[in-house]
Amino acid sequence: MPDILDLAQSPPLTQLSEDEQLLRANVRAFAEAEVAPHVREMDKQATIPRALIDQLFDLGVMAIEIPETFGGAGAHFFLSVIAIEELSRVDPSVAVLVDVQNTLVITALLKWGSSDVKERFLPRLASDTLGAYALSEAGSGSDAFALTTRAVEDAAGDGYVLSGRKLWITNASEAGLFIVLANANPEAGYRGITAFLIERDRPGLQIGKKEDKLGIRASSTCELLLDECRVPKANILGELGRGYKVAIETLNEGRIGIGAQMVGLAQGALDHALAYVQERRQFGTAIAEFQAVQFQLAQAQTELEMARLGVYNAARLRDAGRGFLTEAAMAKLFSSQVAERVTSLALQLFGGVGYTKDCPVEKLYRDAKVGQIYEGTSNMQLQTIAKRIMQPKG
Ligand SMILES: Cc1cc2nc3c(=O)[nH]c(=O)nc-3n(C[C@H](O)[C@H](O)[C@H](O)COP(=O)(O)OP(=O)(O)OC[C@H]3O[C@@H](n4cnc5c(N)ncnc54)[C@H](O)[C@@H]3O)c2cc1C
Repeated sequence: MPDILDLAQSPPLTQLSEDEQLLRANVRAFAEAEVAPHVREMDKQATIPRALIDQLFDLGVMAIEIPETFGGAGAHFFLSVIAIEELSRVDPSVAVLVDVQNTLVITALLKWGSSDVKERFLPRLASDTLGAYALSEAGSGSDAFALTTRAVEDAAGDGYVLSGRKLWITNASEAGLFIVLANANPEAGYRGITAFLIERDRPGLQIGKKEDKLGIRASSTCELLLDECRVPKANILGELGRGYKVAIETLNEGRIGIGAQMVGLAQGALDHALAYVQERRQFGTAIAEFQAVQFQLAQAQTELEMARLGVYNAARLRDAGRGFLTEAAMAKLFSSQVAERVTSLALQLFGGVGYTKDCPVEKLYRDAKVGQIYEGTSNMQLQTIAKRIMQPKG
């Protein structure tokens, strides 16, 4: 009975509340006015200007779930999904910056942070500080718990000294705060992994090589070097030896965010294609008049809508306090596959123009691929889903 009541009170899946519609309209207007004119240059220069990051803070999308008492919007997770989706329609690089901030960093601090951690860091994250999440290393990607960054208790007993090399860290160029996963007790295996909050200016922390990527080029992806970086015990996020839980549980929300990124970028590509096919004429008519073209677009929009429903469903389950691990994995898996197919079709419909930098779809096509790689590759999502469906019933 309570379940039925809950369902009746929560907004239906496909219908957004007034707040959600308003945020969608605001972010869409912002993305078109303030982001779109700079997309090509940001991609070329492989950077997001600080002024644009400041505008994102002013827009209120950098601290969606941070309570108002700490300077945030005090809103629910679903709004992060809407913001990421809308920004991705225009630029998935800008969107992933917002995504990491909300779905990984803020989610982790809200769930695992002590009241001291929340008081010290949430107001900064709500006002001007960008966060980053550092789990991966050269030897540990899918096998995340094989990480070798070490945390050794210092002589005074009130801190840890971290040494190691993290790889692939999104937002690293611009971030002021890093969640770093290190092992404080390698004998205990993954039960030694601990999450630390490290401010950018701590001695011993350095940003290393920036990757030169295929897509989401404006989003920074860098090495993070830790050379005897001393971190006070007060900066441990969650408990000593429980960092593996911080790492895997945070990625559940993260995957919904990546799903939203994939849905948004695919919709952006499809919108460009829908406009182009009505304009481009061949054989004496708009190419939109050919049924073969119409059917391909109809198929693409259908798949995209199904992917969007999966992402929204996972986010709604999360906001309702229900289990959403499998749904998040499915949403990321499917939406990233759909994004690859839809951007490929959109590019195809542009013909030769689609193969040039003059066409915005060329970039969205390159941007789509990463959705099958980061925050757990597609095989890792399949592993999660398989584990769940293979569980004995009863
Ligand atoms: C642009 C970008 C941004 C990133 N941002 C971050 C970030 O902010 N923070 C962070 O910590 N990390 C980040 N990453 C790292 C990302 O999460 C890893 O690249 C990803 O988890 C895959 O790890 P890997 O690259 O080591 O690939 P590997 O784990 O080496 O995988 C290689 C291939 O083998 C397959 N494979 C591996 N194990 C299995 C298995 N058991 N069964 C079947 N197939 C398997 C994989 O599916 C994949 O196809 C980022 C990566 C990229 C590209």
